[in-house]
Amino acid sequence: MVQSKPSNHLRHSHPPLAEIHRLDVQYTTDLSTSYSGFYIRESMSQGDVVTWIPPDLAVCEECKKELHDPAARRFRYPFTNCTHCGPRYTIVHRLPYDRVNTSMHAFPLCEACRAEYENPLDRRFHAEPIACPTCGPHLVLWDAAGTPLTEREEALTQAADAIKSGAIVAVKGLGGFHLIVNASDPAAVQRLRQRKHREAKPFALMYPGMAEIEADCEICPTEREILQSYVAPIVLVRRKSAGGRIAENVAPGMTTLGVMLPYTPLHVLLMEEIGAPVVATSGNISEEPICTDEHEALQRLRNIADFFLVHNRPIVRPVDDSVVRIVNGDVMVLRRARGYAPQPISLNATSTSSVLGVGGHLKNTVAVNKDSYVFLSQHIGDMENARAYSLFIETVQKTEELFACRPSRVVADKHPDYPTAVYAQSLGLTTEFVQHHAAHALACMAEHGISGPVFAVVWDGTGYGEDGTVWGGEFLHVSPCEARRLGHLRTFRLPGGEAAVREPRRSLLGLLYEIYGEHAVEIAAVQRVFTARERNVLCRLLTRQTNAPTTSSVGRLFDAVACLVGIASVNHFEGQAAMLLEQAAQTYNATVLPYPIRWGKDADMFVWDWEPMVKALLQEQVSGASASLIAARFHATLVQVIQEAVQHAPTLPVVLSGGCFQNARLLEESVRRLREHGVTVHYPKGVPPNDGGIALGQVYYGIARAATEVSSSPHAATQDVTQRPTEDFPYVSSHSR
Ligand code: ZN
Ligand code: ZN
Ligand code: FE
Repeated sequence: MVQSKPSNHLRHSHPPLAEIHRLDVQYTTDLSTSYSGFYIRESMSQGDVVTWIPPDLAVCEECKKELHDPAARRFRYPFTNCTHCGPRYTIVHRLPYDRVNTSMHAFPLCEACRAEYENPLDRRFHAEPIACPTCGPHLVLWDAAGTPLTEREEALTQAADAIKSGAIVAVKGLGGFHLIVNASDPAAVQRLRQRKHREAKPFALMYPGMAEIEADCEICPTEREILQSYVAPIVLVRRKSAGGRIAENVAPGMTTLGVMLPYTPLHVLLMEEIGAPVVATSGNISEEPICTDEHEALQRLRNIADFFLVHNRPIVRPVDDSVVRIVNGDVMVLRRARGYAPQPISLNATSTSSVLGVGGHLKNTVAVNKDSYVFLSQHIGDMENARAYSLFIETVQKTEELFACRPSRVVADKHPDYPTAVYAQSLGLTTEFVQHHAAHALACMAEHGISGPVFAVVWDGTGYGEDGTVWGGEFLHVSPCEARRLGHLRTFRLPGGEAAVREPRRSLLGLLYEIYGEHAVEIAAVQRVFTARERNVLCRLLTRQTNAPTTSSVGRLFDAVACLVGIASVNHFEGQAAMLLEQAAQTYNATVLPYPIRWGKDADMFVWDWEPMVKALLQEQVSGASASLIAARFHATLVQVIQEAVQHAPTLPVVLSGGCFQNARLLEESVRRLREHGVTVHYPKGVPPNDGGIALGQVYYGIARAATEVSSSPHAATQDVTQRPTEDFPYVSSHSR
């Protein structure tokens, strides 16, 4: 490739959001052709050429200016957009990304819009979804029964008035519906909780502007930047302790709030009319997928919403708001959807095979690769739910279709009962299974271009282990197609199995039973959270070892400790107890010492035995230590455990992954300590550390497996494996798992 002036110009003067993935320069010797001007040619659909579609982009400053300019053609037009902003992934049916292939096909451009579209000097030159009040979509306001009340400007102002006066309004936005209520009105928020069957899980908030967010929350520059970026995700931020107008039941007991800024012109206008923060939560019932179609929404949300603010631009696929948190000074994506999906994750080597990863069970996503790019789908949801499961199948099909991927191999979780794994086996492709925690580590390795091996600390709530027990506190040796368990947390039993996920008190009893046997029921912390009858029933399960599976889960350990210090005996939503424990630790500012640490052995594995910690912790509690001190020491202990564990593989880089590392205190302290000791450490940033990243890890594994098969086949010499030499995987073992 030769550098030339024009290519440098392209490199440096492209539009703000353009990304150059490859730049080829060819000199022509054909002097009969003379080139003048700059053109964007029609896209050529060429078989296997990798083309992609940008994520949806939050409304840009110039479009906002036009919204407020009475002289502009698009003054107060809720669907204005341009080359720098607007819907993309949520409106595209197929590639290439041309208007005919989007849901804007139904709106032929008017003359004025066409002129902008064709003018290279215009901001809307070749912006596929552009529209105006003459030719584009418009708003309608429905009552709860779907009867149209009014439309356009009036629909907007009436919806705003309804929200201000306490109504629940379902608003069709970019990737689906929101349910919106006034966040300062506890009665309205309570009504939403009841109707949506959402007891305590915090609601996300949309604020009219940055200044209003800063009035209620502590915002650092990185948080401000991501809030105002084209991604405009929900950002988990610290709530100011005093004042604020957010009703307590928006995020009961939480010191953080999930906040976002208006990211479409519709939301900008609506929020200006309302002039105060609102709850803007996904338009669904409990954990179902978000509604996208207004007629479907009318059915599904009829018992929730008082009004429906809808429009006639079809949403091609549901895309929720993304959720991020600033951890260690960087953005960590916790839910990857709007603004991120379907941006591919670029691997550090190409692959000749295409692999589908079907994900795990909760917070599911799917992934499929083309060459070195992995397309990780937007957040789909929990597979316990029939609607989420059909959306899962639809997303697999649509993602493969959109990016013209034809996977020859599928990788699923080892859990035999996961519907995603059952689905994978029905596809008739080469099917492989990768252990849950290995997939967590592999996702992080894929994201950071690590071709292994690493020492992985994978801590989460639940994952199916190689030995059929519930894992979740694992130390693994992982390379792209091989994982070995080196160590784990000492196991304990969960009385009643699955029920322990919802009831931290069961984890507490199981943990203490492991130390004290039946005497565990005499401990004050246990007596506090169970009736005598409950204690006896559960104790019997533990004694008989029936319906009391063993686990090495750090998530459950968090639950047990949270319950022990009196913070949470029941989880109203996933991870609640652990979040409250982290919060409690954050209020303790002085340096603390870890509790005593003991290491044991299990066959050839090392085991962290938490018994001395639990005993010390109990003693400290009896002597009146605060929950926040105990929480802080518990976190310090986990950090110390990680630091000591990595000494089992002193030369390997360390990967920290799994849902527990959404805990900023745990992650930041661990990273700091490891780096102080000269250890190279990686952790997830752009891909969630939780189960939303599993599919990426699965694809990475599948690609590596395919590469080893190719390289070991007798025909290897005739196949192109140059892109993925086996030296990339020096630790390929016998795969005995
Ligand atoms: Zn714009
Ligand atoms: Zn127009
Ligand atoms: Fe997990």
